[in-house]
Amino acid sequence: MYPNPKCELIYHNDYELLIAIVLSAQTTDARVNTVTPILFSRFDNLEKLKNANVNDVELILKPIGSFRKKARYVIDIARILVDKYNCKVPCDGNELINFPGVGRKTVNVFLSEFYNFPAIGVDTHVERVSKRLKLAKKNDSVLVIEKKLMKKFPRNEWGKRHLQMVLFGRYHCKAIKPECDHCKIRNICIEKKKI
Ligand code: SF4
Repeated sequence: MYPNPKCELIYHNDYELLIAIVLSAQTTDARVNTVTPILFSRFDNLEKLKNANVNDVELILKPIGSFRKKARYVIDIARILVDKYNCKVPCDGNELINFPGVGRKTVNVFLSEFYNFPAIGVDTHVERVSKRLKLAKKNDSVLVIEKKLMKKFPRNEWGKRHLQMVLFGRYHCKAIKPECDHCKIRNICIEKKKI
């Protein structure tokens, strides 16, 4: 169903991608894509973003929710990248995990998308699909799910499988009203009868 999956966040460079992923927490990629072009054209480099007035950034981010917290994350990320990393997002999960608003999922999604690093980000879609398809158990944490998926798929497929599961969960195996009637993997889905 998704043979050539692509990340749906719009970005033009490493820091735009990292910030877009941070902004996508608790909202949709489509919604993030409505604010990031405004944010990154108003503040078109990291220096400007670092020195941005937080109220101006909040106003731009308002449509995506949690905008006050996220505005602070954006400015702090810009400051750290300028002051500590010479404006380059590090290709190192141990460094990235210390950035504001960045958790394990964000690290994995960023490294996989931008650096083609083998990683599986477990977001809400990957978690739901994994559980429905019994690739993981109902009470498994996102970390346990990540480890299980890494065992089930070859390392060189992790990034692609992550994207496929995201798109499958977003558009087909949705949280509410999944499209079970015309699901191509219905025959291997144990969950279909209960929904
Ligand atoms: S049959 Fe339904 S619940 Fe199972 S994978 Fe397909 S859409 Fe999801």
